[in-house]
Amino acid sequence: MNVILNKRTKEVHIGSLSVGNESPILIQSMTMADSLDVNKTVEECIHLFEKGCPLIRLAIPSVKAAKNLKNIKLEIEKRGYDIPLVADIHFTPEAAEIASKFVEKVRINPGNFADRKRFESIEYTAEEYDLELKRIEKDIQPFIDSCRQNQTSVRIGVNHGSLSDRITSYYGDTPKGMVESALEYLAFFNNQNFENVVVSLKSSNPQIMIEANRLFVVEQEKRGWNFPLHLGVTEAGDGEDGRIKSALGIGTLLKEGIGDTIRVSLTENPENEIPVAQFLAEEFGRKKAFPELNIYAKNPTIPEVFTHPEQCNGWTVFDLAKQSPEELHQFLLKQQEKEQASPVLFHGNYSEKDLDKFLIRATVDFGSVLLNGWGNGMCIQNENFGSEVIVNIANGILQATRRKISKTEYISCPSCGRTRFDLQKTTAQIKEKTNHLVGLKIGIMGCIVNGPGEMADADYGYVGSGIGRITLYKKKEIIQKNIPEEDAVNALIRLIRENGDWVDP
Ligand code: SF4
Repeated sequence: MNVILNKRTKEVHIGSLSVGNESPILIQSMTMADSLDVNKTVEECIHLFEKGCPLIRLAIPSVKAAKNLKNIKLEIEKRGYDIPLVADIHFTPEAAEIASKFVEKVRINPGNFADRKRFESIEYTAEEYDLELKRIEKDIQPFIDSCRQNQTSVRIGVNHGSLSDRITSYYGDTPKGMVESALEYLAFFNNQNFENVVVSLKSSNPQIMIEANRLFVVEQEKRGWNFPLHLGVTEAGDGEDGRIKSALGIGTLLKEGIGDTIRVSLTENPENEIPVAQFLAEEFGRKKAFPELNIYAKNPTIPEVFTHPEQCNGWTVFDLAKQSPEELHQFLLKQQEKEQASPVLFHGNYSEKDLDKFLIRATVDFGSVLLNGWGNGMCIQNENFGSEVIVNIANGILQATRRKISKTEYISCPSCGRTRFDLQKTTAQIKEKTNHLVGLKIGIMGCIVNGPGEMADADYGYVGSGIGRITLYKKKEIIQKNIPEEDAVNALIRLIRENGDWVDP
């Protein structure tokens, strides 16, 4: 697949904002407050808005919360602000319909709008499958009518972790399944000439997210559609690893000209997401688009990390920070033709003094070559940072591209109004106790509604299941339900020990 995005997407209006076509890349974030609490929610919205976030999403878990959006909008207005809001809806079509009367945009998840996920495999004939689509189209009709009437825009937000059993049974738990899920729903809206739609295809694995978005671009172009894309890597976690995963997924696509609006999800205070998103949008969005790098290495090896290029005598060095994407293409083509090529070192010397900007730039430069299996070694330099920091970044990029696993993998959600425990504090505690378990995947999720699906490929899961209550998972299986929060981290460690996955630090 070679995606060259030479066509602009259509412009979609979200209240006073526009996304797509020539509009600048729009950044967005999400509140953490319970959306039934008007004051807390409004204060958080205003805070995020003043920090530079023009579009704000709220978790709306019930019909009651959807009705409360009216009060939130009125209170924002009363305080002198005009802030476009997005209602984030899972499982409750009725709440989506109500929300569409009060906010500028509603996000629905095709995996659970009129479908379910129980990790079941269902066999369909083509006719049966078609009947299911007809049922869903009927179920979604009142929502489409309400959005049209209220001039509300829609995001069809597909998540890899919450694809319905119908989709995974028919198309597989794959980027193709994600794309088909989005296309089915787009067809419902498109059949009725409802155009104010944005699409997202997110995953906690940046490689899957990148593949799904590229494939979607190809598929929607085949149908003559040009709906804008919202980009994001879900459950990216916190700190450097969260930034690296987000930069890899979002930055790689923006550089190819794909993406119109972005959200960086971090398990941190939402305001921390904004400078990362702003930098990605400014540096990589709406610039000259480079075609997807589609030259794959024949025999990928596990790359070594070096601190100086001089350590690699006899290697071929390619400078990713200085040389252009065209030069990179030529270089890789030549490498591919060689019978016996010398090992390749990818090098980049950076001058950023800001750590986040440095690691984002390095991730976007190194990400796509590493994802395609290239490189026997990598060397990142920046005289503003010590070698320990830099080696850590290099290992983080290798881990995010799945070329070399040298750390514990955390899949932690950013938390939202559905979270009923201190997710940031708990994530820090779990990390402190388990960060020596190289290769183990631990999911730390705020709620039982979306958590289990979104962390589906984790080895162990720690999921909020009520106020101060935690449910523990081993893979997809529930092991202990509703443990008090204060005992849950130790219970998780016990569970890892009992299953033989623990090693002493
Ligand atoms: S998994 Fe986390 S971010 Fe997603 S809905 Fe639940 S609490 Fe919110």
